Amino acid sequence: MGNAIGLKCRECGEKYPNKIIQACGLCFGPLDVIYDFEEVKEKISKESVARGPPTIWRYKELLPVESEAAIVDIGAGYTPLLKADNLAQALGLNEVYVKNDSVNPTFSFKDRPSSVAVSKAIEFGAPAVGAASTGNLSGAMSAHAAKARLPCFIFIPEGLEVSKVAQTLAYGAHLIEIDGTYDEVNRFATEIALTSNIAFANINARPYYVEGSKTLAFEITEQLGWKAPEHVIVPIGSGALLHATWRGFNEFAEVGLIDKWNTRISAAQPEGCAPVINGLLEGKNGVKPVEKPDTICKSLAIGDPADGYYAIQVIRSTKGSGRAPSDEKILEGINLLAKTEGVYTEPAGGAVVASLKQLVEDGEIDRDEQVVLLITGNGLKTQESITPSLPKPYKLKPDIEVFRELVNKVKTKGVKWLEGV
Ligand SMILES: *Cc1c(COP(=O)(O)O)cnc(C)c1O
Ligand SMILES: [Zn+2]
Repeated sequence: MGNAIGLKCRECGEKYPNKIIQACGLCFGPLDVIYDFEEVKEKISKESVARGPPTIWRYKELLPVESEAAIVDIGAGYTPLLKADNLAQALGLNEVYVKNDSVNPTFSFKDRPSSVAVSKAIEFGAPAVGAASTGNLSGAMSAHAAKARLPCFIFIPEGLEVSKVAQTLAYGAHLIEIDGTYDEVNRFATEIALTSNIAFANINARPYYVEGSKTLAFEITEQLGWKAPEHVIVPIGSGALLHATWRGFNEFAEVGLIDKWNTRISAAQPEGCAPVINGLLEGKNGVKPVEKPDTICKSLAIGDPADGYYAIQVIRSTKGSGRAPSDEKILEGINLLAKTEGVYTEPAGGAVVASLKQLVEDGEIDRDEQVVLLITGNGLKTQESITPSLPKPYKLKPDIEVFRELVNKVKTKGVKWLEGV
């Protein structure tokens, strides 16, 4: 605890004390939390982590909160890393893992950054918290704010999934729908953040918020026996998660919990909103902004992502790649993961599975490469996008004969009927 000594501009290197601030005052570059790694090294060990709670707070030495009392922990993190042998076989690979972050408290990985953002807001004495959201941050911030007894203002574009809206309202947040794209919602929320003392998770508390996301890299490494994976595939909305994943591996190496790491970091976006993938694959240095995203993958529908440029740098420097599958392929990805591994994900997860499939088909991933998929959200939150692609249930009379006919029709092997009963 208390190892975060301040903030540093990713562009010009200017340093700032810990405070609510969105970007560098000199160059508008993003700010990253800096740690006293010597101090962290003294305090953190594989044993200290193992003794910690089964949540992101097991890595508290590398999280930017100063006092234990400020921590708002409703159980974010420490989600299962599943060996996905059936999926691997279906794709012709040898070693695939699913990091199932769809089972977080509010059913997406956004509980990780929200837990840190709300804890930090408490430390800074903010009277209220907020966020601009594509859907999942909305529920995650509202739940953590409820636990912290802080008022919460959430700004979303119109047209999000019913469950995500309902969940947010159930947690008691003030939910504001704006008729416009996420980028327009974000601009409006930014104006409010700049002119008030409300702590907006992904705006003026962003340097702290993103720290929560890097715990995904920490956990995968711990769960693989303190070894960074060979390849991870990360869905991109703002690009914060992808950049934080890279930071996570770096920091574990920095404090000596792993020796070195050589992980390829690849990305997934939907075809209908792929500013990062399009910039990447066209060899550009920056993103190709999308004015009007058009995809079922609403949680990734950010046309001009804040960390998009940095995501491209990370992908290039780690020899990663990326794909932008169509909505149809995304639905197939959802289906494949559900059918092979029993994990029901939302379109963001479907995009990751579909991208993996394309990368394998295109020869970008070797048969023997170890791949970890970040499955960041839950299918139960996005029923209206998924249900139309699913078959209908059978409607039968409660008659044994009718059921036997069905069993014959679906050609289930090995089912026997007892004679004379
Ligand atoms: C927000 C979100 C992402 C992307 O995270 P960023 O940090 O914005 O890139 C991925 N998956 C799901 C389910 C999300 O809600
Ligand atoms: Zn700067």
